[in-house]
Amino acid sequence: MYKTDLEIAQEAKLLKIDKVAEKIGIEEDDLEYYGKYKAKLNLDLLKKNQDKKDGKLILVTAINPTKAGEGKSTTTVGLGDGLNRLGKKTVIALREPSLGPVFGLKGGAAGGGYAQVVPMEDLNLHFTGDMHAITTANNLISACIDNHIHQGNELNLDIERITWKRCLDMNDRTLRQIEVGLGPKANGVERKDGFNITVASEVMAVLCLSTSLMDLKERLSNMLIGYNLEGKPVFVKDLKIEGALAMIMKDAIKPNLVQTLENNPAIVHGGPFANIAHGCNSILATKLALKLGDYVVTEAGFGADLGAEKFLDIKCRFGNLKPSAVVIVATIRALKQHGGIEFENLKEENVQAMLDGCANLAKHIDTVKQFKLPYIVAINEFATDTQAEVEALQAWCREQGHPMSLSQVWAKGGEGALDLAQQLVGICEQENEFAPLYDVNESIEAKIERIAKCVYGADGVDFTEEAAEQIKIYNELGWNKTPICMAKCQTSLTDNAKIYGAPKGFRITVRELRPSIGAGFIVALTGNVMTMPGLPKHPAALDMDIDEDGHIVGLF
Ligand code: ADP
Repeated sequence: MYKTDLEIAQEAKLLKIDKVAEKIGIEEDDLEYYGKYKAKLNLDLLKKNQDKKDGKLILVTAINPTKAGEGKSTTTVGLGDGLNRLGKKTVIALREPSLGPVFGLKGGAAGGGYAQVVPMEDLNLHFTGDMHAITTANNLISACIDNHIHQGNELNLDIERITWKRCLDMNDRTLRQIEVGLGPKANGVERKDGFNITVASEVMAVLCLSTSLMDLKERLSNMLIGYNLEGKPVFVKDLKIEGALAMIMKDAIKPNLVQTLENNPAIVHGGPFANIAHGCNSILATKLALKLGDYVVTEAGFGADLGAEKFLDIKCRFGNLKPSAVVIVATIRALKQHGGIEFENLKEENVQAMLDGCANLAKHIDTVKQFKLPYIVAINEFATDTQAEVEALQAWCREQGHPMSLSQVWAKGGEGALDLAQQLVGICEQENEFAPLYDVNESIEAKIERIAKCVYGADGVDFTEEAAEQIKIYNELGWNKTPICMAKCQTSLTDNAKIYGAPKGFRITVRELRPSIGAGFIVALTGNVMTMPGLPKHPAALDMDIDEDGHIVGLF
């Protein structure tokens, strides 16, 4: 019987956070303590280190995952520990977990097995309050919108066309559509509204793409809240509350320092949705990590078709980041799914199905090559993998000429990634000519088409009438010179979640576009995207408990 992630995390011998900070040259003055094992990092550290050369940036991405996740976070943590074991000063940069899913389906959000970030209870619960700040900022906007309407609606806001929603860091499907202002007149004007989960708030995306407190304020001020009765857009700046919002976010903007099970530094900051937002930790955290470490390992949500594409086309563009290498995580179970095996039967050996599924891996490798980046395939080993399957996958990689390493970080921690780390040190020395896939000045249609053809392998893109109309309006409003944030199902290269492998001869349908003007991108939705999840029949909350000594059980 394996130990749970929580049991492993609880056995860890943690260093006081100042000792972890010391390893990367951070002085006590630049730490803001949140207890013994967590600290926020002063943003002045960026200025203090501005003349220092940036470390090498390694992105961890994956093939299209099964619904269980294929271990990007786990690989990121284990690889960071592996590089540190080789004596390379390495910092990992990860997203922070959202509270909602913690109580929903089981699944670690900060690595797993012997490759985890700790203290995991804190990380998965309230951590340093960033989610609270984002929720508050988001809901101040909602409160001000409704108050503005109640007080006479000087901005002429069209109550049928308010796009801003309230938010809460909880999976609560009943809040997807609500009515506010019910009851007597004193309760405000009645209108329809709804809730997003906090990580789907544009405030989260803004936090993660900002490069300073003033940039944050500017981006917050540019967030769209709706339209007036003449059909003109209305922004946060029209409510004149960007100052208050930036103030609420003054601590949330500072990256959080914690540690891995092997006491290496981990900066965990920001966690936007990977569909209607870009799905990576904050630019500030990554930039700071690059100043503090010789190597930085980071990850981006979902598979390379979504996470890596958005990391490279949105985050790297805004943050002026230049990655040195990409790790593509593949699991034998996900490859078998791509080879036609049902999720329930993925534990059974099937070498042929796995080899058939390698088409999916090959497509993601092709995508990374189009960004002109060197890569390595990390086979994330599971206890259920058979020797025949592992050997066949290794042989496939060798035959195709793909650099590859068997990663055993879940079972062994950093020791399980020594070979991967060693190979990456060499790969990072290669010069690369990284370039985003498209020019932001191309038309909205051309940018989406480029992504669909090059990254998904589609023949082309169809736009619904609604989407075509929106593009026309965005062109008139000058909202067409931004990167595109694709919202697509994560399990398939197509916009149909059940089509696995690397299909050919299909088209993508863009149903709707949504402007995230503050964050700085246009979201293109290809299917129904849920921005407020619900709880399953047996929520993980039912299995959690705490005793009188404060000992927690059942949290992963
Ligand atoms: P991702 O970041 O790709 O979503 P995670 O690293 O969060 O994936 O892993 C998803 C889940 O799978 C976690 O619960 C993690 O503990 C588990 N997991 C990851 N790798 C392994 C492995 N090699 N063996 C068993 N479980 C694993």
